[in-house]
Amino acid sequence: MQKDIATPIRTKEILNKYGFSFKKSLGQNFLIDPNILRNITGFAELTKDSGVIEVGPGIGALTEHLARASKKVVAFEIDQRLFPILEDTLSPYDNINIVHQDILEADLKTAIAEQFTDVDDVMVVANLPYYVTTPIILKLLEENLPLRGIVVMLQKEVGDRIAAKPGTKEYGSLSIAIQYYTTAETVMIVPKSVFMPQPNVDSAVIRLMKREKPAVEVKNEAFFFEITRMSFAQRRKTILNNLTSGLPNGKEKKEIILNALMTAGVDPSRRGETLSIQEFGALSDALLVSFH
Ligand code: SAM
Repeated sequence: MQKDIATPIRTKEILNKYGFSFKKSLGQNFLIDPNILRNITGFAELTKDSGVIEVGPGIGALTEHLARASKKVVAFEIDQRLFPILEDTLSPYDNINIVHQDILEADLKTAIAEQFTDVDDVMVVANLPYYVTTPIILKLLEENLPLRGIVVMLQKEVGDRIAAKPGTKEYGSLSIAIQYYTTAETVMIVPKSVFMPQPNVDSAVIRLMKREKPAVEVKNEAFFFEITRMSFAQRRKTILNNLTSGLPNGKEKKEIILNALMTAGVDPSRRGETLSIQEFGALSDALLVSFH
């Protein structure tokens, strides 16, 4: 087997050979610890029949681990300067396709249909660029792609919010947006020392496994997400106060809001952070007739 790209010595050799300089604005913090890469790949539970989408292959550190464990990897990289490097470092592998595109602009539904014709399942696995963590994860979930799940490295603080349970200070509309589609868990905390250059923040790996159907059945998804965002607008306010401020003519329609809270079995003096996804579902359905 090839020597790993991700050892500190080999990474430095590659960077020197190509005179590569990191762009902070692109979130370029490369992994230089093969153990972490083995762990990330393991969490994805890939088989030789799995397809993998990677976001931001960098110099290929994670890509080669994914290629060894799966049938095919399609990796989206925004930085053109990395292409000659990837062609060199990943030359031993014939099951990797690197696409020069901003992941946020990519038509992933078509890419999956065209590139993964003969795989059993598709996972997204990545060490994400931290400046766009949330938009990337939301895109992957909201586009209703045929994914089995997502395993990504991100800022620990964002991971904590994504996997948070009701009643904690990290729980908010992001937790709900993601747990609506997936079961979310933090599977590893990662020290700064495994990156080059080291990021300013702590990191974690999270695993999001797609639910067969959303965590709660709602009449109108967009309205459900609107109500959850509104309920956390001012965290110290009660759910009643956030809804009367956020809903159109909410102050005049206080009675209607109170009735909807009662129908949903939610005490108006509670704070948004204590409501479960199921309670938000019942509440948005109860408000829908009067506010949509
Ligand atoms: N996977 C490599 C590793 O673990 O060493 C690099 C990870 S680095 C944290 C993030 C990578 O994402 C960089 O290669 C960066 O150029 C790329 N990137 C940044 N923004 C991107 C975007 N919008 N679309 C695709 N790739 C992006």
